Amino acid sequence: MRRYLVAGNWKLNMGPAAGRELAAAVGERLRGRTLHGDVLVCPPFVTIPAVATVAQGDPVLLGAQNCAAHEQGAFTGEVAPGMLKEAGVQYVIIGHSERRQYYGETDDDFAAKIELVHAQGMKAIFCYGELLADRKGGRAEDVVRAQLKGVLPRLQSPNAYNLVLAYEPVWAIGTGETATPEIAQQMHAFSRELVSGMLGAEVAANMRILYGGSCKPGNARELIGLPDVDGGLIGGAALKAEDFVGIVDGAEAVLG
Ligand code: PEP
Repeated sequence: MRRYLVAGNWKLNMGPAAGRELAAAVGERLRGRTLHGDVLVCPPFVTIPAVATVAQGDPVLLGAQNCAAHEQGAFTGEVAPGMLKEAGVQYVIIGHSERRQYYGETDDDFAAKIELVHAQGMKAIFCYGELLADRKGGRAEDVVRAQLKGVLPRLQSPNAYNLVLAYEPVWAIGTGETATPEIAQQMHAFSRELVSGMLGAEVAANMRILYGGSCKPGNARELIGLPDVDGGLIGGAALKAEDFVGIVDGAEAVLG
């Protein structure tokens, strides 16, 4: 039985003061509850220490949205995986479509970053998913295959414990347009099949594959309840404690 993960990607929102408040509000709503999965928040780098202090004792894990592809050196403006580890980070999001689109990150970057995240004993959440033009052109599966093939077979020791996948159709991110349950299930099952071919059947059976793209309290239950969906990567709805916890409630209702 795979344990669900509901992960909030705060993106470029929430400085230390606002982040502390949001993390406290999420923690308050979850405190004392027995959860059957994992709940994670991924604040901007500078907000991580504030959230780390607040989240202590609450069932809220701490993540980062990105990291450097190097551990140290002359890389102005970067933050090393080891620094994140020291700050209490347990998960790092790698390969988000916004990193691909706005910062030109490639498979080489993603493979290097995931290796360093693993070397620090942290878990990586690797994001992938097709553009609207790919879907309209009937290339969604080809794109997803290439994205997974470009990274997973290059990793030293990927397993269901240190790696989480997040299928995020780009046309559904921040658009209010959610993948239909049919599309989500089909793409997740297809992803799991690919993982099986690349990393083996056992890893595939245990690997968590999150859905991301306009997931909200109103649709979380249906999406996260799909056989091959193991939780959600949440953008907009992670910025309101009530909505984020509403999604956790949806996960608990179907996988708890
Ligand atoms: C995301 O950016 O990972 C995401 C899923 O965003 P949203 O939930 O806002 O679509």
